[in-house]
Order: sequence, then structure tokens, then C-alpha cells
Amino acid sequence: MRFLYLILLLLFFSCQEKKMTKVPTTFESQPSAPGLGVSLILLGTLQDAGAPQLNCTKKCCQGLFEQADSVRKVSSLGLLDFNTQKKYLFDATPDISKQLYALKKAMPTASSSIVDGIFLTHAHIGHYTGLMYLGKEAVNSTEVSVFTMPKMSSFISSNGPWSQLVTNRNIALQPLVANQAISLSPSLQVTPFLVPHRDEYSETVGYLIEGPHKKALFIPDIDKWNRWELNLATELKKVDYAFLDATFYSAKELGNRDMSQIPHPSVLETIQTLKDFSMEERAKVIFTHFNHTNPLLDNASEATKKVLALGFKIGRIHDRFPL
Ligand SMILES: [Zn+2]
Ligand SMILES: [Zn+2]
Ligand SMILES: [Zn+2]
Repeated sequence: MRFLYLILLLLFFSCQEKKMTKVPTTFESQPSAPGLGVSLILLGTLQDAGAPQLNCTKKCCQGLFEQADSVRKVSSLGLLDFNTQKKYLFDATPDISKQLYALKKAMPTASSSIVDGIFLTHAHIGHYTGLMYLGKEAVNSTEVSVFTMPKMSSFISSNGPWSQLVTNRNIALQPLVANQAISLSPSLQVTPFLVPHRDEYSETVGYLIEGPHKKALFIPDIDKWNRWELNLATELKKVDYAFLDATFYSAKELGNRDMSQIPHPSVLETIQTLKDFSMEERAKVIFTHFNHTNPLLDNASEATKKVLALGFKIGRIHDRFPL
């Protein structure tokens, strides 16, 4: 009996030991763990005008005027560097207050109270107007770094109310040059690159974000892939993630208008462009910047099922991506 008890005891400890060895012991081996390393966090996935969209009487916005959907925030990406305790924002949207709150919650120990830098893509309403919440009528911030391309910078400096943010030193404009990297730390770089878009007030850029282990492309707005001087498939091979313009799913959404006249690549066009990609390579694509009409906003739609079955990802608010 005592012998049996001993055997059972030995078995118990050996099992315990096996269980113990399964738990990773080094943090370096799991840079994806929240609160460690460098990571991206999706803070919004909607086209500039968000949802519900003013005066929309279609099914897509039904109920949203009465009760807002907390996941419907305008397209924005957060960057968390736990090594330096700094946090950054890509695009200043009308939802910036809640988006900076989500960023703060993701890094409660960060040194800055608001944000360590904001990178702007272009001067369309969903991408820069959130800056107004840094001004006198709002938080009245002190010299928040705002990284901008030359035309964007002169647009902000020479037009009210944005210019007041500069003269009051609520923001400090930091110049960007296309294809020149900005080092945020020895292992974190951000590089702007020009993309074709409706450039009334500023140029439009996408960003390459390079962390210690992985790289990401952020292109929330672009006219068409074939109007870009670079090749999407080639660029995709160089990175681990690509957050891509998915404003419209298809022409159907716009009453079957001629898609060649719509200055965005539809999701179906992007899928077609990448049709020769393996499932593994397709999984790098994270669709975002959805118009209020886009069926990919609905988890249960046929479009959502199709896109996921083909191996692509659909961006959802607060999804995290280790760099
Ligand atoms: Zn946009
Ligand atoms: Zn709608
Ligand atoms: Zn735009």
C-alpha cells in the first residue's frame, strides 16, 4: 500500500514538472504578450465620416442614431513601445478622445499623459481634425509632436483654426520627408511614403512601421493600386502586416457605379490583385477604413465570411499586432 502511494506521489510530481516546463520562462520569446515589447493596436476602422453617417437612412446606420456602437470609430492606429514607455498615434480622428483613452489604457505606465507623437497621413476630415481637441477649447496641450509632410505642415500652419494650435504651442510640428525614416528608438522606425489620393490640401502618405521583430504597412487611403508607383504584391512580401484601404467592399454598395471611377481599391479588387498569394501571405492583409455601407462591418455578412475564408483579415477595434 505504502509502495503504491509512493508511486502515485512520484507520478503526481512528474506530471507537475511536465506542466511547469510548458510555461514559457523568457519574455523575449513572446514579444506578442500585452505589456511587452512593441505592438500596434487598431483604434478605429471606419472611413472618415464614421457611422452613423449624417442623414443615412439605410440599413447600415439603422439604430445607430439612437444608440451608438462603441466599436465604430474612425480609422486610426496606435503604436505602443513598452521598451521606452512611449505611445504614438497614426491619424488624429474626430474620435481622438476615446482613442487616446484606449491607448492610455493599453499602456497605463507611459511617461507622457497624452501621447508622445501623432503621425498624420493627409488632410481629409477623418485623418487630422481630431487635432482640434488639443487646443484651447479642449485639453490645451503643450507641444504635442505632430509629424507631418511639407504640404500638410504648411496647411496646418497657415489655416485657422489649426494654425492657432501652432502659435499657442499646443502642438509642435515635426517635419517628415518621403522615404526618410524617423527613429523613435534604436529598434523602432517610421517611414512615410507617398500614395496617390485626392490631394486638395496636402499630399497623402502611408507609413512603414518597423519594430524590433516585425514590419507593418499602414495605407488607410489610396486611389488605386495601379496608380501607386510601388507594387502592392512586392511591398507586401517585405512586411508582416499591411493595414489596407477597404473603404468599399464592391461596386454593389454604391448602386453598381463604375468602380473605375471610385478613387479607392474595392476589397474585391485588392483580393483580385493578390489572388496568386498563398494563404499565409494573404493573412498579412488587415482590411480597414470601412465606409458605413461596407458589409465587412457586419461580422455575420456573406462578405465577411468570404474574405475570412480566402485567408485575409478584417480589422476590428483594439486588435493587437506585435512588432
Ligand atoms: Zn480617409
Ligand atoms: Zn449608413
Ligand atoms: Zn482621404
